[in-house]
Amino acid sequence: MANTTLPPNLRPATLLVHGGTERTPYGETDEALFLTSGFVYESAEQAEATFKGEVEHYQYSRFGNPTVAMFEKRLALLEGAEACLATATGMAAVHGALLSHLKTGDRVVASRALFGSCHWIVSTLLPRYGIETEFVDGHDLDAWKQAFARPATLVLLESPSNPMLDLVDIQAVSALAHEAGAIVVVDNVFATPLLQKPLQLGADVVVYSCTKHIDGQGRVLGGAVLGSQKWVTEVLQPFLRNTGPALSPFNAWLLLKGLETLSLRVDAATRSAAAVADFLASRPEVAAVRYPFRADHPQHELAKRQMSAGGTLVAFEMAGGKEAAFAMMNAARLVAVSNNLGDSKSLATHPATTTHMRIGAEERARLGISDGAIRLSVGLEDAADLIADLEQALGNLPQARRSAAE
Ligand SMILES: *Cc1c(COP(=O)(O)O)cnc(C)c1O
Repeated sequence: MANTTLPPNLRPATLLVHGGTERTPYGETDEALFLTSGFVYESAEQAEATFKGEVEHYQYSRFGNPTVAMFEKRLALLEGAEACLATATGMAAVHGALLSHLKTGDRVVASRALFGSCHWIVSTLLPRYGIETEFVDGHDLDAWKQAFARPATLVLLESPSNPMLDLVDIQAVSALAHEAGAIVVVDNVFATPLLQKPLQLGADVVVYSCTKHIDGQGRVLGGAVLGSQKWVTEVLQPFLRNTGPALSPFNAWLLLKGLETLSLRVDAATRSAAAVADFLASRPEVAAVRYPFRADHPQHELAKRQMSAGGTLVAFEMAGGKEAAFAMMNAARLVAVSNNLGDSKSLATHPATTTHMRIGAEERARLGISDGAIRLSVGLEDAADLIADLEQALGNLPQARRSAAE
């Protein structure tokens, strides 16, 4: 295997095509897929030297695999992180980042608006191991300050959050967290590695569900954890190697190909999402639109400060509540009903009855998830076709038909 030597200071789109590539002696253009669980040694001596750490040699694909390593290197270059380890799913990444670092007696502070399974880990799993956890309203800096009145071990936050696109001031919270003794883990799925750089804002660890924009074509599950070389090697790697949430080489290969087009796809979907958000805001059937780069987002200033664009997701609230939300989702022909996001196909979710059903009405109210709320993941369709589809779906609402008949 030979490393390709790249010129310095390459921009993201270039890194996404060339970063991390290693070629076999066959000189293949495409990244090689090493669909192998194990590796052989030239001799018993080489095996011994490998296990002693004197020689670098792949040992076993739960520990490492050349295709997985290419993916990890490419993503690390894009993120500007010293090190990256890939996992089988986004949740394996979150779980690994947290459980590798935490022990009984530690204290975790998390923003309330988290992806459902992340919320479960913090609220239900960690306390089982004697880890104290506390949720705060992520947008409220005073709430963070109060939580850091006592020492903490780890902070988990998501910004923009699922599904209402609330933001957390990553720079301010990281500074406060560090003073309280905590490391900061950011779930950066909604922003993607292109639109927000948590490590540059002071966070210590970034996690991804690569299932979302990084694959971006609805094919495979995957995850990744990025951080300093020291933390990844000393804290995360032993945990992942010995507990085994390894990414399959085949999925790593698909994710490598996903990275090649990530910036094209995220740029296109972001442009469409901004146009869709503006269209929705112009409609009387829509009570409110949430999009970080719209001036009416309550944290618009923060969005402009810590993100380079608004992203591919739009949240909005139908004036007619659940009935209108369901009717609109059912009437759309291009936008499919799904709980997934970050796909090339546009997908609509009704959080109150699906992804956020289990947290209960009270918690949904705290998070601003009304029964009329819809989360729209904007895909790669032509924006004009998407807007036309949403327009016909809004025109087909029962109350719209009723008022047209009057
Ligand atoms: C999807 C998602 C996850 C979990 O990722 P999986 O790949 O489904 O395990 C975690 N956080 C956020 C914000 C997500 O959207």
